[in-house]
Amino acid sequence: MIGKNGNFPPQVIQVSAKPAKRVKHIPQRTCVGCRTVLPKRALTRVVRQPDGVQIDPTGKLPGRGAYLHNVRSCWERALKGGLANALKVTLSEADRQLLSDFMATLPEEAAEEA
Ligand SMILES: [Zn+2]
Repeated sequence: MIGKNGNFPPQVIQVSAKPAKRVKHIPQRTCVGCRTVLPKRALTRVVRQPDGVQIDPTGKLPGRGAYLHNVRSCWERALKGGLANALKVTLSEADRQLLSDFMATLPEEAAEEA
């Protein structure tokens, strides 16, 4: 109860706790092959796992990830160092095999501006 002089009317102080309205924004990521910033969906995530790297099409696997353009040239470039660097790993033979296999499914050139 507040004192009879009523200096503090028992009003709830309105704390505007409005959560920042989610503006529709497209997540952008940098391709480790060519360093271009692109919408996430134009990229494939590669994630570091305890037993080696893995392609992560859902983008949901835990672990350190790197993003690569869905275009072969970027994977080739990334395999020469950018990817290992981004993931802070040394790519094993198995890793390279996995990545090359995936790379082989990609188009040579980027399908521009999805
Ligand atoms: Zn790229």
